Amino acid sequence: MNTPTYDLAVVGFGFAGAAVSLQAHRRGFNVGVVVDPHGNFPVASRVASGLINPLVLKRRRMVSDAKLAWDHAVDLFGWLEQTTQTQVFENTPVAEHLATVQDDLDWNLLAERPGFAELLISETEANANKHLKINRLGFVRTSGRLLPLAYLDAAHGALEDRMVLGAVLQLAQTNGFWEAFDASGRVLIRARKMVLCEGPRAPLTETYWGDLGWALVRGEGLDVHLPGLDLNRPIHARHFLLPDRALGPDHYKVGATYAWDGLEDPQPTQAGREELEAWLKSVVSLPYEVVHHWCGVRPARKSREVLVGWHPEHPGLGVLNGLGSRGGLLAPLKAHQLLESGFAALSD
Ligand SMILES: Cc1cc2nc3c(=O)[nH]c(=O)nc-3n(C[C@H](O)[C@H](O)[C@H](O)COP(=O)(O)OP(=O)(O)OC[C@H]3O[C@@H](n4cnc5c(N)ncnc54)[C@H](O)[C@@H]3O)c2cc1C
Repeated sequence: MNTPTYDLAVVGFGFAGAAVSLQAHRRGFNVGVVVDPHGNFPVASRVASGLINPLVLKRRRMVSDAKLAWDHAVDLFGWLEQTTQTQVFENTPVAEHLATVQDDLDWNLLAERPGFAELLISETEANANKHLKINRLGFVRTSGRLLPLAYLDAAHGALEDRMVLGAVLQLAQTNGFWEAFDASGRVLIRARKMVLCEGPRAPLTETYWGDLGWALVRGEGLDVHLPGLDLNRPIHARHFLLPDRALGPDHYKVGATYAWDGLEDPQPTQAGREELEAWLKSVVSLPYEVVHHWCGVRPARKSREVLVGWHPEHPGLGVLNGLGSRGGLLAPLKAHQLLESGFAALSD
């Protein structure tokens, strides 16, 4: 069988790999993607809650290039929705809980700060939902929810005939092409440029870039059935609560925890469930049922910097990783920047 050969090959198909391959496909590049159907590590993007929110309220800051990242994310999600006729994004602003009068005043001050004014809605609102034990709410204009499974499935559909199933064990460079081999020594894909998007386990990336300085973070969440709440937007107050229409009416996601243990074999824990349920009871006055308890690992680095770019000694080898807890928001912009900087060589 002939080895599929492309201009650009992407290894991995979480938020990073999907963004790189979709952005490349949109530019008309001949792109192929290696997808591991039996990945033995949970794929972060498939358990992500999908909040797209540049505000880090606790630290009173925005992620860097917040507006640019938002513009690229909305542009890519919109393009995919149009191409596949599938909804992948809910453009409903996230509501931040303002628990005290001081929080409310702080929000007003924050909304006036340079860099915040166009991203936050300065007027706050009193909570009108009698089942929520919440005072006031502040809204982030540039926020919403990516539907992770719908997004990845739609992206898969858009790239259908360019998907190669397998797990890459090794790379080699032959006659100006990068080749990716699986465990049996078979060449899965061949391309002039290859981008590694391995997520929180990244042995191939570490082979070329060395120690990535990981500070991986395990996260847990709950799917709950909560009849009568009638909440139609995500709310965030230490944890988040968001309507999950894909699971059906009255279904919500609650999450996510932050933990630095159990990274080798990430599993939901009793402690994680208790933390989330205690929080849920502190903000909602209705009975609920937990229908699922899930867990994943965020690919975060000690430096908090996203690893993106082309290898200095191997210009045909690129990487996008280290997206941390905001992969949904950041991946489209970072993928765009990666392709911009490799553009000239790709279109030679
Ligand atoms: C509990 C939890 C909640 C989160 N909530 C949010 C949220 O609300 N909003 C948000 O933006 N982010 C959230 N995140 C973070 C988000 O999940 C990550 O930023 C993002 O998923 C990282 O994407 P990735 O593509 O780098 O990694 P992954 O999604 O892990 O994808 C990596 C892919 O590469 C594949 N792969 C790896 N090695 C190989 C190989 N050798 N050969 C073939 N394939 C390979 C893997 O199988 C996998 O498919 C959350 C994360 C967790 C754990």
